[in-house]
Amino acid sequence: MKSKPSRDLRSRAEKKAAIQADGIARTTVSFYRYVPIADPEAFRAKLLERWGALGCLGRIYVAAEGINAQMNVPTKLWDQFDAFNKTLPELQSVPYKIAVEEGVVPSFYKLTIKVRKKIVADGIEDETFNPSDTGEYLTAAEMNEYINSPDAVVVDMRNNYESEIGHFDGAVLPDVETFRSELVNAPALLEKYKDKKIALYCTGGIRCEKASAWLKHNGFTNVKHLKGGVIDYRHQIDRDNLPNKFKGKNFVFDERLAETIGDEVIATCHLCHKEKCDTHYHCKFQPCHTLFIGCPTCVEKKKGYCSYKCQLLDKLPPKWKKRYARYYAKKMRGHFKKTPLRK
Ligand SMILES: [Zn+2]
Ligand SMILES: [Zn+2]
Repeated sequence: MKSKPSRDLRSRAEKKAAIQADGIARTTVSFYRYVPIADPEAFRAKLLERWGALGCLGRIYVAAEGINAQMNVPTKLWDQFDAFNKTLPELQSVPYKIAVEEGVVPSFYKLTIKVRKKIVADGIEDETFNPSDTGEYLTAAEMNEYINSPDAVVVDMRNNYESEIGHFDGAVLPDVETFRSELVNAPALLEKYKDKKIALYCTGGIRCEKASAWLKHNGFTNVKHLKGGVIDYRHQIDRDNLPNKFKGKNFVFDERLAETIGDEVIATCHLCHKEKCDTHYHCKFQPCHTLFIGCPTCVEKKKGYCSYKCQLLDKLPPKWKKRYARYYAKKMRGHFKKTPLRK
């Protein structure tokens, strides 16, 4: 009889608790590279075997066009992780972006490596588009110059819920919920700045590689982007003693949800619409799972749910909850009115 591969049957909460309790110091790192990967499935298997054996955790996308990784590595095993990566031609001297801060919770609690068509979903169908024709890079010091210059415009290439808790002073903040729609809308939105110097930025730089190439493809001649994104900006201003022009937190796509870059709190609680705060939560009612900003008082009052309704619905018997889930998830998605963002 064939033996089935053993599956981890623990719940999400159990896995999380186990990682939190294991006491292993972890280093959160992200990196990406556009590089031809001949056999993404075989490449994935190689990574899964070695990174899995080292106890790495994270979310990694592999595609024929490259790799995009957000993960954590047991700090003690960092050198082994790095040594293994160096054996892979695709990861030769890939620039690691080490997290600005580790959270109170580990950044990831499982290892997922997925093969995708693209490493960043962009929705571009245009066959004539050449994504490797990217704009030039900007250092943190050059970014600061752009922010102070009347001839330049700084554009946030992230989603509205990311820029709501932190962004560069005076940046254009498109009110979009996905990178796809941001890309589609960017040429029209930035048309009025076509004769200015344009500086794009995002979390770690990967979205701007594509966005700068896309704007160039659409006739923008003066487009640059912040190298390594906000994460590396923070490291550069610390290293070179530069003034910090980023206000608030940098949203990150892991359990930490954000890293503090500047000390100001620029967002407001989504529940009371009064308290200044910038801590994101996912609604505890799984079918809802809405991302919201909550002040300590409201979060305690609503017990971690986005509304009294979700709090109530979570008490339904599992059979009913399941039945409700699909309909509810659709209906509730994005049901928060976001704070209006500057255009
Ligand atoms: Zn509140
Ligand atoms: Zn909810």
